[in-house]
Amino acid sequence: MKKIWEKYNSEKIENAFSFNDGYKNFISIAKTERECVWESIRLAELNGFKNLEDYIENNIPLKTNDKVYIVNRNKNICLFVIGKEPITSGINILGAHIDSPRVDLKQNPLYESDNLALLKTHYYGGVKKYQWVAMPLAIHGVVCKKDGSVININIGEDENDPVFGFSDLLPHLAADQMSKVASKVIEGEDLNLLIGSLPETTVEKEMIKSNILNLLKTKYNIEEEDFISSELEIVPSGKARDYGLDKSMVMGYGHDDRVCAYTSLMAILNANNLEKTACCILVDKEEVGSNGSTGMHSDWFKNTVGELLNLTVGYSELTLSRVFKNCKVLSSDVSAAYDPNFSSVYEAKNSAYLNGGIVFNKYTGARGKSGCNDANPEYIAQLRKILDDANIVYQTAELGKVDQGGGGTIAYILANMNMEVIDAGIAVLNMHAPWEIVSKIDVFEAYNAYVEFLKNCK
Ligand code: MN
Ligand code: MN
Repeated sequence: MKKIWEKYNSEKIENAFSFNDGYKNFISIAKTERECVWESIRLAELNGFKNLEDYIENNIPLKTNDKVYIVNRNKNICLFVIGKEPITSGINILGAHIDSPRVDLKQNPLYESDNLALLKTHYYGGVKKYQWVAMPLAIHGVVCKKDGSVININIGEDENDPVFGFSDLLPHLAADQMSKVASKVIEGEDLNLLIGSLPETTVEKEMIKSNILNLLKTKYNIEEEDFISSELEIVPSGKARDYGLDKSMVMGYGHDDRVCAYTSLMAILNANNLEKTACCILVDKEEVGSNGSTGMHSDWFKNTVGELLNLTVGYSELTLSRVFKNCKVLSSDVSAAYDPNFSSVYEAKNSAYLNGGIVFNKYTGARGKSGCNDANPEYIAQLRKILDDANIVYQTAELGKVDQGGGGTIAYILANMNMEVIDAGIAVLNMHAPWEIVSKIDVFEAYNAYVEFLKNCK
């Protein structure tokens, strides 16, 4: 702890705070995977990155210092800065995920009950369902029409927009509810989103639902059947805010893992004249196991590196395996911050602390490190040297006490491709709650660590 405050004088604290203004803006806009990808493209193009698809289509060779990005199905993006060394000497990769815990609409969501119109939902990722009731929520996402058009939805962020919510029981009638275990206080099928109460009086039945359908049709050109091909996510409404009287922290939705996504993205956007090629990959589906075409398990990343080879030294399966062997990865994902209110689940000597700098997790996993990527100490030693030389403050942690819990990241997936990988991210309080907390100093320190990694990892 002392080390960080030796480094951060008032001017440095000011730098860290202004970096966080950009971050607060990013997470206030980007609350879904798609919104993260759109915002990443916008920032990439502002910084001179070109679409790799154009290079692929026209077979344009990539040369040193070329900056390119490529998008997979609007939910997964990869950015590269081509280094001086051939790609076969490996790529320095920052990998983060841009999906966050939330509540999704079901495919057939709309119904009327007792003069109210509601939407059925299915939660996404590890959420404590009781945290999501009685608070303002917004709807973000897309509705895809049969004619191929896509309607973008974002309701509940503008101050003139309505917001939505899941109801909770008043304390006066909650005697039975309050005696339940926390996992049963609010159950999955209780998360029905209230969206209307006015009737359409020209119809006989389901007047409230009819009125909502009319509004959907006139305002958004959406028919009830269009929900089948929609991807609509219920997220907390509102912007990220400064937290604490000293404004030293940020409260926002989706720090896990957009705080690492943003810092990784900024690191590659500001990268120049690198020895080794750099990559930032932002993936979807981490919170549900990294499966699917836009998750880390997808072949898309491997194929994309194949395309890069094809536009530089030439592609072969053997060459690709040599690239992977030489890749160094920071799996940039958040860590659980030590919480003095719940100290019994942490082991104090091996926990991540707010304002402790970037956090390295040699391994995650549970029950005897099961299923984890156990980072190689040779690689960790190399990273220590890079960060110490640049006066970057870091800490190491496990996820709570032994056998207390566990959690996954994308680290093991890239390690299985024969890369050197370690988890390196930012400590978060309230992780997976609708509003999570990070320290501004940690955010800035992680950004600086990612910059040094891209520049100096051999
Ligand atoms: Mn995460
Ligand atoms: Mn998570």
